[in-house]
Amino acid sequence: MLRGEAVIDEEGVLRIKGRVCVPRVGDLIKTILIEVHSSRYSIHPGANKMYCNLRQHYWWTKMKRDIVEFLAQCLNCQQQSERTIQVLEDMLQACVIGFGGHWDQFSPLAEFAYNNSYHSSIGMDPFEELYERRYRSSIGWFDAFEVRP
Ligand SMILES: [Zn+2]
Repeated sequence: MLRGEAVIDEEGVLRIKGRVCVPRVGDLIKTILIEVHSSRYSIHPGANKMYCNLRQHYWWTKMKRDIVEFLAQCLNCQQQSERTIQVLEDMLQACVIGFGGHWDQFSPLAEFAYNNSYHSSIGMDPFEELYERRYRSSIGWFDAFEVRP
């Protein structure tokens, strides 16, 4: 799997696609997770943001699983997840009431709307927090149900 992707750099660090390969020894991975989770710049970031931040610089097997298991122990992150789920459920319910149909057909729309709406807790929308820029659509606004031939 790693053939051709792994290199040892000039400092003797094993890198995979440019990312530092972190061995599963001692508490090294846990130490990295604690540092990223508690950073002044990303307090309780949630699983997606934490994964996006970490994967830019590090690589280890089962990184996503480790992040999810680590965050499951944080009450703050769990409460944020529960709130997010409740908001998404409310949005999906509103879509079904407003447009008819089944909730699962609106899931991408609800995700998009959620990620591009202002969140007072972070002072911006989640997309902006994750990618450090506002979302700009090259398509523009249109009726989500408008079908063009
Ligand atoms: Zn947390």
